[in-house]
Amino acid sequence: IKLAIPKESASGERRVAMEPGTVKRLTQLGVEVLVQKGAGDKAHFPDAVFEEGGARIVGTAATLLKEADLLLKVQGPTAKEIKALREGAVVIATVHGHRTPELVAQLRDRKLTCFAMELIPRISRAQSMDVLSSQAAIAGYKAAIMGADLSCRFFPMLTTAAGTIRPATVLVIGAGVAGLQAIATARRLGAIVQGYDVRSATKEQVESLGAKFIQLSIKAEGEGGYARELTDEEKAQQAEELAAYIAKVDVLITTAAIPGRASPKIISEGMVAGMKPGAVIVDLAAEGGGNCVLTEPGKTIEHNGVIVHGPLNIPSQVSLHASEMYAKNLFNFLQPMLTDGGDFAPDYADEVIARSLLTRDGVIVHEPTREAVE
Ligand code: NAD
Repeated sequence: IKLAIPKESASGERRVAMEPGTVKRLTQLGVEVLVQKGAGDKAHFPDAVFEEGGARIVGTAATLLKEADLLLKVQGPTAKEIKALREGAVVIATVHGHRTPELVAQLRDRKLTCFAMELIPRISRAQSMDVLSSQAAIAGYKAAIMGADLSCRFFPMLTTAAGTIRPATVLVIGAGVAGLQAIATARRLGAIVQGYDVRSATKEQVESLGAKFIQLSIKAEGEGGYARELTDEEKAQQAEELAAYIAKVDVLITTAAIPGRASPKIISEGMVAGMKPGAVIVDLAAEGGGNCVLTEPGKTIEHNGVIVHGPLNIPSQVSLHASEMYAKNLFNFLQPMLTDGGDFAPDYADEVIARSLLTRDGVIVHEPTREAVE
């Protein structure tokens, strides 16, 4: 088969779906790999390195899409791409179909087979394919760095001739994949770190990173290792108990999320007003509206001397390693679907393949997305 890697067209997207190492492994399997000219430039993988891996460089997106049997992307396919692919072609990307129902309908109508990387079940066997985890780890790492950068204080303790500087205190709310990486990074930078989550299973994980776990009275374990939404009374209770901790920290990193819902609003204007002058909030939930009511997605604002930072698409800023990790996830997902001769022959009964399948043969296979679209 012919596998195509286009240049990502979404604004601000610096990642690319494949890197030269994985391209090499694919060509060795008998797959023909086509890379659009300049596709890896922003991730610092020049065309020449892709060619060394056995890829053929194609001048334009139009030619690439016309030839493609299988399109590999970071962001979901665009209307233009869907239109240009031949009927029955395959797309593998991070789609988030519920956010773009019109594109899912187009995928269906063009009879494209589409796999959504974010739908891959989070079971042990699929850990090596989990783009949500690989990209969240990058976002968490970067959040700690951003917090340090925006802070008017040092993270580590410093003993100098000009006196001793006390280490900064960092609180991370939401100890999932991103939160744990933010905790680990803030610790490495020398801060005193606290972690909080509504799932009590995270206590041990937070403590294993050398941070202190904040235990509040609310417990909200949901299904499949995720949190459930809090009731209004629980939210009020959480706010009351959390405020005292928030008032004392220098940097607050928020990562709380509930699958399929808008980000929970945890930090009120009053809590921000109670923070130290020069304190920083890095709201990693900005993509889903933010955990802080003052967060403006994509912006950095100042409110009564507190900086509220709402970064979007953080993994794109770490474009080289984010692409490398994404490409490896994609390769691990794709490889079991390839025959010895490099043909595409997925076993649609396989759990990982079945659950990540979004559209096929003119049907929206993924039920929640179908309900949202039709
Ligand atoms: P996520 O991005 O959905 O949420 C981030 C964190 O926010 C979660 O820890 C959640 O408990 C927390 N949260 C939600 N509402 C909150 C609130 N009101 N207050 C405070 N915290 C709140 O989660 P994630 O990082 O994608 O992963 C969550 C779970 O999935 C973890 O248990 C993780 O171990 C598991 N996981 C399993 C696999 C696997 O087995 N393959 C892979 C990745 C993650």
